Amino acid sequence: MKLILLGAPGAGKGTQAEKIVEKYGIPAISTGNILRAAVKDGTEMGLKAKSFMDAGQLVPDEVVIGIIKDRLKEKDCENGFILDGFPRTIPQAQALLDSGIDIDKVVDIEVPDEAITKRMSGRRVCSKCANSYHIEYKKPKVDGVCDACGGELIQRKDDAPETVLARLAEYHQMTEPLKDFYSKLGKLTVVEGQEDVADTTALVYAALED
Ligand code: ADP
Ligand code: ZN
Repeated sequence: MKLILLGAPGAGKGTQAEKIVEKYGIPAISTGNILRAAVKDGTEMGLKAKSFMDAGQLVPDEVVIGIIKDRLKEKDCENGFILDGFPRTIPQAQALLDSGIDIDKVVDIEVPDEAITKRMSGRRVCSKCANSYHIEYKKPKVDGVCDACGGELIQRKDDAPETVLARLAEYHQMTEPLKDFYSKLGKLTVVEGQEDVADTTALVYAALED
């Protein structure tokens, strides 16, 4: 199964991607995580991406398209994958289509902007393994410590309130048109993101099954 998760930053794509990994055993590919790892490692790509990311802007298309093309060639993607955070622009979606990768389904998780700004301010991520938590909705077992690896939980720079607003504006302008793009291809299912993560997961699973 080849899937795309669409939705605003902070709509819960990453969390739902993990649930799909659990159920279907296909890898989740997050361009955000790949880019953050590159920034941390100080690679050339990371240096290029950092200023865009810190400002809440999209990284140039050619950079992320290159990342995804390379990643999808790896062996673990043979039986399918979930894309989380890609495509985010029409040229990215077009590049995916042009490369002959046939996506089965696109699930769009809809969450109102007000709820997003609230959620993002409470988001914390592991500084070691990139697992994501929330101080209210998805608490770690021990405050400030990652359940998976014991790493320290930190707030992402781009989760600061001003940056969140910039990312939401970018989402509405650049990414939202993808709903129409995939709807015309007959691939889109819209799911309303729920307060409770498990309720959203149930809707996502249902969308994948029909
Ligand atoms: P979120 O988890 O809030 O959805 P991500 O972790 O996916 O955000 O992305 C963080 C940042 O990485 C984005 O704000 C953007 O700068 C960059 N980025 C990630 N994916 C893409 C993409 N497909 N195109 C352009 N920039 C991207
Ligand atoms: Zn961790």
